[in-house]
Amino acid sequence: MFWQREVESIDRGLLEKIQLERLKETVHRVYAHIPFYRRRFEEGNIAPEGIRTLGDIRKIPFTCNEDIQVNFPYGLLAVPKDDLVRLHTSSGTTGRPKAVFFSKRDIDQSTELIARCLVMTGMKRGDVLQNMMTYGLFTGALVMHYGAEKAGILVIPSGSGNTNRQIMLMQNFKTTAIHITPSYILYLAEVLEKKGIDPQRDLSLKRAFVGAEPYSEETRKKIEDIFKIDVYNSYGLTEMNGPGVAFECEWKQGMHIWEDNFLIEIIDPSTGDLLPEGQYGELVLTTLCREAMPILRYRTRDITSIIPGPCSCGRTHRRISRIVGRSDDMFIIRGVNIFPQQIERVLMGIEGVARNYQIILESLDEMRVQVEIDRGIFDGNVDRLLRFQKDMTNKLRSEILILPKVELLEPGVLPVFEGKAKRVIDKRTL
Ligand code: ADP
Ligand code: ZN
Repeated sequence: MFWQREVESIDRGLLEKIQLERLKETVHRVYAHIPFYRRRFEEGNIAPEGIRTLGDIRKIPFTCNEDIQVNFPYGLLAVPKDDLVRLHTSSGTTGRPKAVFFSKRDIDQSTELIARCLVMTGMKRGDVLQNMMTYGLFTGALVMHYGAEKAGILVIPSGSGNTNRQIMLMQNFKTTAIHITPSYILYLAEVLEKKGIDPQRDLSLKRAFVGAEPYSEETRKKIEDIFKIDVYNSYGLTEMNGPGVAFECEWKQGMHIWEDNFLIEIIDPSTGDLLPEGQYGELVLTTLCREAMPILRYRTRDITSIIPGPCSCGRTHRRISRIVGRSDDMFIIRGVNIFPQQIERVLMGIEGVARNYQIILESLDEMRVQVEIDRGIFDGNVDRLLRFQKDMTNKLRSEILILPKVELLEPGVLPVFEGKAKRVIDKRTL
């Protein structure tokens, strides 16, 4: 199903023409209205007229996290302050919060993008979406909320947390879809199990839109198995409106990124060079339709790749693969680069692992992985438990190439996160 078929399956040649038009318009506008960008252009000897092709974008310097922070609060506006109708800030997982502003047109645009996303998973009028993201400064809940309403879906603005009430709402209103973080949905599963509620028998759930933090394909499978639903990956970031940047269609083979709104590049994070399709690197985004706060070549720090080839759904907007992690999530143990998600992938692929884990970096060459496991194994035969631990350690070693200490814990002892999870505790910097 399509929300805007002609835009979603647009001919690539035409799409590129539209992208170029919008890029030129954006470049002229930021030059005229945002002193920060004008300075950048002047320093680099670039005139807005010098941007004649899509490839010319590489003449423009990157915009980084720090540039947004330095221009806090109103420094990156391309419209008068009176035209702003909404403010959001990033959740502050990394560094100081960043403020992002929307004009009326920006709200309409982000709303349309969410409607496209939801409809391409099969959502339609009659569906009931329980929005279990945090309402407030965080973009996650409100942006999704507006888009779902636009698509004619009934939205329950439950927010995150208060799990007992969430379950009650799901039962009372026969919720068919939820919008939630990976860590919270795993916790929700645990609470349902404790209460003896069978997700399949006692709930009406069909879909979950899971995002806001990295998770592996193994975790998706685990969630789909527990709930017997379809889980769709949802990617976004505050700097680019929040959710609705990239989303999976019914085929669930990578996330379509709305290229009429965002120009995408994948670069080598250390050299800044453009990488070809299929190769993993840092995602760089340029807004093409943003009115209030256009951003050129934003370094997201998210590591992904462009999936080559068309998607079976007929959409022509390209797909990005599951985000491996943030370049700044990566840590180094014994000289080896490790992403927390590599560890998650191994853990969630092991039968008997429960839903929560934590990584503790003890020193430059020592890490500990704490994993909750199913009660049956935890309380069972000691030999079996030791074998389980050894097997897990070996599997982790073959993925990350170093030998971690593995600590098995009973379910429910590690901290629970209603918003974004904090998986890595770096004792080296505490
Ligand atoms: P913060 O930067 O403070 O976490 P945001 O709420 O803007 O604030 O978070 C956006 C970031 O969340 C992205 O840059 C990305 O790292 C992560 N993220 C969002 N959705 C996903 C997803 N589906 N998979 C992996 N990471 C995601
Ligand atoms: Zn598709």
